[in-house]
Amino acid sequence: MKNRQRRGVPGRAGDEALVRVIATINGRTLADRARGLFEQQMAAWPGMRAGNAALANVATKSFAFDGISVRVEWNPGRLISTTAPEDLSGVSRRPCFLCATNLPPEQKGIRVAEEYLLLCNPYPIFRKHYTLASTVHVPQGIDGRFGTMLDIAREMTSEFVLLYNGPRCGASAPDHHHFQCGERGFLPIESELSSSVSRGRKTASADGVQLSAVDDGLRRYMVLEGDDRDILVRVFSRLRLAMGSGEEPMMNILVWHDERGWHAPIFPRKRHRPSFFSLPAEKNILISPAATECGGVCITPRERDFERVTREHLLLMFSEVMVTNAELASITDHERRIL
Ligand SMILES: [Zn+2]
Repeated sequence: MKNRQRRGVPGRAGDEALVRVIATINGRTLADRARGLFEQQMAAWPGMRAGNAALANVATKSFAFDGISVRVEWNPGRLISTTAPEDLSGVSRRPCFLCATNLPPEQKGIRVAEEYLLLCNPYPIFRKHYTLASTVHVPQGIDGRFGTMLDIAREMTSEFVLLYNGPRCGASAPDHHHFQCGERGFLPIESELSSSVSRGRKTASADGVQLSAVDDGLRRYMVLEGDDRDILVRVFSRLRLAMGSGEEPMMNILVWHDERGWHAPIFPRKRHRPSFFSLPAEKNILISPAATECGGVCITPRERDFERVTREHLLLMFSEVMVTNAELASITDHERRIL
């Protein structure tokens, strides 16, 4: 029983830990409260201050492709996340860092949508970087939760973007369900999306919802946009099924909400990491693509890799980890007949 409690399984110990963690932060919107939590944590938690101070030293370089751009960032704080074990047996050997019972004593959170705790990420990529962790220790997964992702994105206002990494393609805690959230204006895809969509293939549209298939020369993905939450959720459920049954197919998702409604680029994946990740130690390059990389920012925790990575590496990486156009069409074309 002691072990079950430590891993955050619902029960007295988990509940008490949750009560201890929850902070009372006032604000008009969830985004206001999230910003208030950030200020509180920066004042009260030295580890959080150190992680955010390190962001000032992140080095960046940019590559231009046809109508899109990709930035590479050297961010030493992301070593643990970039090299997170791929197999669940490796994950199960470490204490879960998203369970309330295991959070650092200084860490506080905001209760969101009943089943989530909004926490500040002490190893940030975004200037304000949050994790929305399930309040119970359940496996990462998107089934039945896309609507919640839309709801939280709307509550976080147009100033934030939500990120989802599937359990086999980028989730640093595949054993504990979570979303991430970061400030808008960081990922190049946010400003490039409308032009990529206009050059893409509109596969289906209905009142208030449009589904597009995009090949921007680097990434092949679909984009769900619109202001009708229920239709968006229904279309997503069908796309999810079209991607495969059984174990969740690999995918990364971004969602943000503005005056035009929701924007959700969805990236079906066929491979977790590029071939150069697992080359011998003297030749490998540690970039492990997840939703951030799909959004146009490639994080590498080692200076050596930051110096070495070229445009050709990025082309190779995306060609290896993204689905082909034919695979994308097989997912989206079903919707053409029913939307
Ligand atoms: Zn957990």
